Amino acid sequence: MAPLEPGEVVLVGGGPGDPGLLTLAGLAAVEQADVIATDRLAPLGLLDRARPDAEIVDVSKTPRGAFTTQETINALLVDRALAGRRVVRLKGGDSFVFGRGGEEWQACAAAGVRVRVIPGVTSATAAPAAAGLPLTHRTLTQGFAVVSGHVGPGDPRSTVDWAGLARSGLTLVVLMGWDRLAAITDALIEAGRSPDTPAAVVADATLPSMRVVRAPLAALAGTAAEAGLRPPVAVVIGEVAGFDPAAQP
Ligand code: SAH
Repeated sequence: MAPLEPGEVVLVGGGPGDPGLLTLAGLAAVEQADVIATDRLAPLGLLDRARPDAEIVDVSKTPRGAFTTQETINALLVDRALAGRRVVRLKGGDSFVFGRGGEEWQACAAAGVRVRVIPGVTSATAAPAAAGLPLTHRTLTQGFAVVSGHVGPGDPRSTVDWAGLARSGLTLVVLMGWDRLAAITDALIEAGRSPDTPAAVVADATLPSMRVVRAPLAALAGTAAEAGLRPPVAVVIGEVAGFDPAAQP
């Protein structure tokens, strides 16, 4: 990766949590940055690798806690870049998967600030993989869909065709779906997905605190709640959630 340039903003996908899953290019950017704006879900252990004189700004958006508006984050990135500093925006996963990286880029573009993107390992694929669930498997499914559960089925703001997803035959990965998990699984079953469909919830994927709960679709929300799982969680729905590497084809 070419060295960071003064006045540049670099959107770095930090991976799902384990610092080992940040890319080498992402690490190089962290090491060179004058300013690092971080998120709660970014691999914060990596901030040890920042320069001792780097300015570190926590711009987390906790669902029910401390909150930095997107406008404030955009303004910070633009302000520091226009001051000639090398700015890294370090996020969890990939910046362009429910990461609002596009909005940050637009804000920078409007201010004439150059932007570079370093892709990250998204939790959408890393969480199932770390839990030993292949998102695609030749005899089970030909693809997967990643959807946000932030706005659930039945909510007038929802633009997701949950019934279509239920019929799609694809593995479904739901991010930000913890609060609406029961509504989501109910909607899929109502639309014809079998209540026995294997499903799993993966919490804190790739971190030492990672936990995986598997249950049939109809029992998923209750089983995960009883197990005491806490967000961040990725939900995997489909035959692959029952994958057993020891079972021979
Ligand atoms: N840009 C991120 C996603 C941001 S939305 C990415 O590409 O991964 C935040 C959601 O991501 C969380 O609500 C959760 O669904 C998921 N997530 C992020 N990190 C996770 C982790 N370590 N384990 C499980 N889910 C995670």
